[in-house]
Amino acid sequence: MRLAHRGCNVDTPVSTLTPVKTSEFENFKTKMVITSKKDYPLSKNFPYSLEHLQTSYCGLVRVDMRMLCLKSLRKLDLSHNHIKKLPATIGDLIHLQELNLNDNHLESFSVALCHSTLQKSLRSLELSKKKIKALPVQFCQLQELKNLKLDDNELIRFPCKIGQLINLRFLSAARNKLPFLPSEFRNLSLEYLDLFGNTFEQPKVLPVIKLQAPLTLLESSARTILHNRIPYGSHIIPFHLCQDLDTAKICVCGRFCLNSFIQGTTTMNLHSVAHTVVLVDNLGGTEAPIISYFCSLGCYVNSSDMLK
Ligand SMILES: [Zn+2]
Repeated sequence: MRLAHRGCNVDTPVSTLTPVKTSEFENFKTKMVITSKKDYPLSKNFPYSLEHLQTSYCGLVRVDMRMLCLKSLRKLDLSHNHIKKLPATIGDLIHLQELNLNDNHLESFSVALCHSTLQKSLRSLELSKKKIKALPVQFCQLQELKNLKLDDNELIRFPCKIGQLINLRFLSAARNKLPFLPSEFRNLSLEYLDLFGNTFEQPKVLPVIKLQAPLTLLESSARTILHNRIPYGSHIIPFHLCQDLDTAKICVCGRFCLNSFIQGTTTMNLHSVAHTVVLVDNLGGTEAPIISYFCSLGCYVNSSDMLK
């Protein structure tokens, strides 16, 4: 080509180049979509260059270990299979941005995955049509999540720290069993929210009062640790205390409380956290009950207008 460019005569026949075999070409494939059991590769490996792999309706009962070697994967769609458990090693796919597990038999999402490299890469997670009752509190460490689908599960609560998902824009959890929303739900800033068909309860008129007077040593020290952001971990204090601190309640005043608080429910218009809101019921409502916590009687009295 260089000779031709210079205007020289080219005598060398181009056909001396060896044609690429189909199998070699396969190795550079970046996308593969399989939607039936009969097309699922059993004898040969997936091309290592794959960035997008879909294997739906293949009757998979577990994640194929060969998929976990595909280090370039950005998008993995395993929807419509019978997968019961996710291997922790799925968190080693360091470029994985989109994971679709809709319509499988998963009952939980493991803490190990919440601590994996998915924290930095995962943008979209679809976990619809399963039997998931709750997500671990560590789930909110998947901070790059932008799109989260949890429709048609058996969720009885959202993770209490859901407000930490600061990049979340699309959230749908239609047809679950949510009785109310956690107080941190107020911190979300969404473009789209669908909570249709949940079993939202009417806000309770009377608050639950669990105030201690005076505060126990545990309560005071927990409040101090959290207020001053003192680092803690199971290497310093018992593991169950770490869990308690991880799930501490936040008062409307911004302070933390562990076991001494007043809990009230109020209604919240979902438009205050999302631009587009799907109606929560057939009556056309966009309001849902949300829990509020108060660290002291003073905070409760000051905010009591909110609870009316
Ligand atoms: Zn307070």
